[in-house]
Amino acid sequence: MKRSIFLRKTRDVSVGFAAAAATLFVPAVAAGAQQPAHHWAIVVHGGAGVIERSALGPEGDKAYRASLARAAEAGAKVLEQGGRALDAVEATVNVLEDDPLFNAGRGAVFTADGRNEMDSAIMDGSNLMAGSVASVSRTRHPISLARAVMEKTPYVFLVGKGADDFGASIGLKQEPPSFFFTESRWDSLVRQLKKEGKPIPPRPAGVPPLGATVPVAFFDESPGLRHYGTVGAVALDVHGNIAAGTSTGGMQAKMPGRVGDSPIIGAGTYASNQSCAVSGTGTGEYFIRLTVAREVCNLVQFKHMPLQQAADTVIHKELEALHGDGGVIAITPDGQMAWSFNTPGMFRAQIREGGKLQVGVYNDEP
Ligand code: ASP
Repeated sequence: MKRSIFLRKTRDVSVGFAAAAATLFVPAVAAGAQQPAHHWAIVVHGGAGVIERSALGPEGDKAYRASLARAAEAGAKVLEQGGRALDAVEATVNVLEDDPLFNAGRGAVFTADGRNEMDSAIMDGSNLMAGSVASVSRTRHPISLARAVMEKTPYVFLVGKGADDFGASIGLKQEPPSFFFTESRWDSLVRQLKKEGKPIPPRPAGVPPLGATVPVAFFDESPGLRHYGTVGAVALDVHGNIAAGTSTGGMQAKMPGRVGDSPIIGAGTYASNQSCAVSGTGTGEYFIRLTVAREVCNLVQFKHMPLQQAADTVIHKELEALHGDGGVIAITPDGQMAWSFNTPGMFRAQIREGGKLQVGVYNDEP
């Protein structure tokens, strides 16, 4: 059944958007009547890349699936209580940011000089409001900071110290570098820098000495192979609104100051009730050059493609034509859900109202 979009009171988007939406979508019930609920749904990713059974092992496989399920369930809980897509996306990503298995928040990869510089964005499809942060290093939940930029400032994008300082000023939890540190990410950095003949930075202050017990990611990089671990979520709520969010430590051993696609609206993150909500993962430079997230939504909005076809077109035709790698998750206001990736694996999960949780890792799974 194709559902229509109810026009909500927009915040500070232009009347133009509301008017345009009104011509596109016909309300299903007369004013004053009770609005029928939409069926909520959520899709989550935990990064795409060279993720293979042999590298992950049965224990790693189990751990990642459990974490993805936990994150999807956190979002589902918000949605089934009638909460907003935006809240569900934030709640889901917060769980993954706290999980050292993923390259976001705690467990973020390191820059070439041994620091964590995290990027994140969130977007509300109901009004095209968006917030982003890049190169933050102290805020525990970068996606919550991105949301605060969206809701509490007149801006869309804050970076570096200014962004962290803003987070601290409004009471968002700040952490020392040792909080974000994981031994396996550090090992992985050291291995890569050695291979590239680059200097090895000192271990960050306050981290346990080498050999001490610290949270360890199961999934380690096999020599010559690269993996990611960025996290993201897209959701549809019972009010018919969609939202997208992405959070990442970026690419391992990146040059300090490098910013990827995740916080760039239209590249790694995008949401509009007129088309779809998308969160991407992969080598960010390609996603920026192709404005991947917006491109998927454009195919839905202007070429009227089904969501899966739009996602596949962008990933398997446009991204591949540039020899880029990665994937997307996506959702539409009428409840279509999709994922698409051109890597051996993508950590992913989805659940819709009344349906069963589906978790996937490798490319031979549905
Ligand atoms: N897209 C992210 C970046 O380039 C990395 C990733 O998705 O793993 O920063």
